[in-house]
Amino acid sequence: MTRTPPAAELASLPVAVIGAGPVGLAAAAHLADRGLRFVLLEAGATAGSAVREWGHIRTFTPWQHLPDPTAERLLQATGWTRPDTPVPPTGDELATHYLDPLAALFGDRVRVATRVDAISREGLDKSKSLGREDRPFVLRLQLADGTGGELRARAVLDASGTWHQPNPLGASGLPALGEAGASELLVGPLPDVLGRDRGRFAGRRTLVVGAGHSATNTLLNLARLAAEVPGTSVVWAIRGPGPSRSYGGGAADELAERGKLGSDLRALVSSGAVELVPAFSTTRLEVEGDEVTVVGTTPEGERRLAGLHAVAAATGFRPDLAMLAELRLDLDPGLEAPRALGPLIDPAWHSCGTVSPHGHRELAHPEPGFYVVGMKSYGRAPTFLIPTGNEQVRSVVAALAGDLEAADAVHLVLPETGVCSLDSGGVGVGGAGGCCGSDPGVAAPGAPATAHRPLPEGLPAQGFASGVRGGGELATLLLEDAPGAGGCCT
Ligand SMILES: Cc1cc2nc3c(=O)[nH]c(=O)nc-3n(C[C@H](O)[C@H](O)[C@H](O)COP(=O)(O)OP(=O)(O)OC[C@H]3O[C@@H](n4cnc5c(N)ncnc54)[C@H](O)[C@@H]3O)c2cc1C
Repeated sequence: MTRTPPAAELASLPVAVIGAGPVGLAAAAHLADRGLRFVLLEAGATAGSAVREWGHIRTFTPWQHLPDPTAERLLQATGWTRPDTPVPPTGDELATHYLDPLAALFGDRVRVATRVDAISREGLDKSKSLGREDRPFVLRLQLADGTGGELRARAVLDASGTWHQPNPLGASGLPALGEAGASELLVGPLPDVLGRDRGRFAGRRTLVVGAGHSATNTLLNLARLAAEVPGTSVVWAIRGPGPSRSYGGGAADELAERGKLGSDLRALVSSGAVELVPAFSTTRLEVEGDEVTVVGTTPEGERRLAGLHAVAAATGFRPDLAMLAELRLDLDPGLEAPRALGPLIDPAWHSCGTVSPHGHRELAHPEPGFYVVGMKSYGRAPTFLIPTGNEQVRSVVAALAGDLEAADAVHLVLPETGVCSLDSGGVGVGGAGGCCGSDPGVAAPGAPATAHRPLPEGLPAQGFASGVRGGGELATLLLEDAPGAGGCCT
C-alpha cells in the first residue's frame, strides 16, 4: 500500500500545469512570480502548439488585451516589448511574439513533447475518500519518443484547451451516420485555405457547417479563393433559421476586427457568392469517389447537399474528459464546465466578450488542488477569451499560494460584442444575436428583454455574462429552461 506522504513532502512537490497555450503559460508566469515550484507539460513540439495550428487566422483581439499582466511584467524585465500595433495578431504572431519568449523564461520547467494521458491521486482510485486530499496527484505521461513516465504534483492546472476535440458534424452530438467513413473529405474547422491547403479547395466545391467565428473565417477565405480561381464554390449550412447572429455587432462591437468579420460575412452572403442553407441539421454523409453528399433535415424535409469535395465542420469543440476520469469532478451536465461556472457562460442565454469575474471558487472541483482553466474550463461553451483565462489563473495561483484575499479579488473587463441583448424570442436586439455574434442553433423562448440589464447594487457579481456586470438574479431564474449550447466564438 502506498504510504501517505508527510505534509511537508506534499508541499515540496511542483504544481503541474498541462498545456503551454496562452493560459497555461500565464499560469506559469503567476507561479514563477509567487516563487512556487511548477512543471509545465506540453504535448506539442513547441509552446503554443494548438495556436500554431490555426496560425494563419488573425485573432480579433488587439495586442493590448492578450498578454497576461504578470507575464508581461516578467517579459519586460528581459527587454521584451508588446508589439505596438492596433492590428490583432495572427495565431502564428501570437505564438512567435508572446508565447515563445514567455516559455523561454521558464527554461526546463517547460517540457514539450510531453503529453498527459491521465491524472489520479497516488495510490487511490476515484472511489476512495479517506485521506484523499493528502495524496499527491500522479500524472501519467507519454513522451514523443514513445517512452512513458509519471510525475507527482501537489496541485494540477489543466490548461489543455479543446482544440484537439472538435465536435462532430452530426446534429445530435454524435457523429453523423457515415461521418467516420468520410474522414478523407473532412478538413477541420479552420483549414489554411489560402496557403498550405489551397490545392484542396481551388476549383472545388466546399461545404462549411457552423455559425461561429471559425465558420466565418473559413467562408471569407474560401470566397477570396473563389474570386481568384474559377470553379471554386462555397456552400454554408447553419442550424439556425437565419445567419443574423453570425453577423455580430458590426460597428457596435468594441473589438473592431470581430465586428468586421461579421460585417464582411454579411456582405459576402448578400452578394450571392455563398450558397446559404439555413435550418439544416446534418444526419448522414454519403461518399462516392472523391465527392460526398451531406444529408440533413430541414423544416421542409430532407435536403441533400451533393457534389462536395470538402467539408469544414466548424461546429465547436468539447473538452477531453477521458484524461480526468480518475478525478472527482463537479461539472455542469450540459456544458461540461465546472458547475458553478456553467450558469455564467451558457451561450444559449448570453453573449460572449463579456463574463462576470470568476476565479478559484467557481473553478474548484471536489478534488482539492485540481482546476481546469482556460478554454477547457468553458467546456462546450464557445465563448472563451484569453483575458478571462489570465484572470482565472491569477486567482487560482493566488489560492494555491494561500493568498485568499488576492484569490477572491477577481476583476474582469472585457470588450463588448455589441450584441449583448436578447429579445423575448432569444433573438439579438438590433438585428444581431448573442454569443459572439453567432447562431447557437437554438431559440431561447421566454428570455426576457432585460436578461442583460445592469446588476443591481448589492447582488453578487455573478450571473449572465453581460458586459460590465449583470443579470445575476435572472440567471438562476432562467437556467432550468435553458436550451443546449451552440457554436459561437470559435
Ligand atoms: C481560430 C481561433 C481564434 C481565436 N481568437 C481569439 C481572440 O481573438 N481572442 C481571444 O481572446 N480568444 C480567441 N480564441 C479563443 C481562445 O482564447 C484560444 O483558443 C486560446 O488559444 C485558448 O488558450 P488555452 O491556453 O486555454 O488553450 P490552447 O491555446 O488550446 O492551448 C492548450 C495547449 O495544451 C496542449 N495540450 C492539449 N492536450 C494536452 C495533453 N493531454 N497533455 C499536454 N499538453 C496538452 C496543446 O497542445 C496546446 O498547446 C480563438 C480561438 C480560435 C480557435
